[in-house]
Amino acid sequence: MSHSNNQYPIHCECGSVAGILSGSPRVRGHCHCEDCRDLLNVPFHSVTAWNPDQLTITQGEDVLKEYQHPHLDMKRIYCSRCGETLYNTNAMDWRVVSQHLIKKCSGGELADGLQAESHFFYDRRLFDIDDDLPKYD
Ligand SMILES: [Zn+2]
Ligand SMILES: [Zn+2]
Repeated sequence: MSHSNNQYPIHCECGSVAGILSGSPRVRGHCHCEDCRDLLNVPFHSVTAWNPDQLTITQGEDVLKEYQHPHLDMKRIYCSRCGETLYNTNAMDWRVVSQHLIKKCSGGELADGLQAESHFFYDRRLFDIDDDLPKYD
């Protein structure tokens, strides 16, 4: 699998924390579930989701803090200096990384292998999305 050599750098706003995502994400798409909304205060969450071993923190692990949501099986992992979220976890302990963060850390370009393939939990959406991606409940 040539995909396994793909590497995508991420870092927080202040640069204290940096990491590398490796390989191909398990999932890439726009999530419309209530949990993402509740954890991150976004109308929907444009994500790439990775296995724990696909994310290596290369710098600033000691600066990372985690916020355990009070009733969801989700955590938000953020830089304690600038507050930027690096990723969140879900009930499967996946590393859920915002497409926006990766794009920002790659000079504004999101690699083809990370582009959203679908919308999911679309039945829970706040509003309709007019694009050509498949939409799943
Ligand atoms: Zn920071
Ligand atoms: Zn979600």
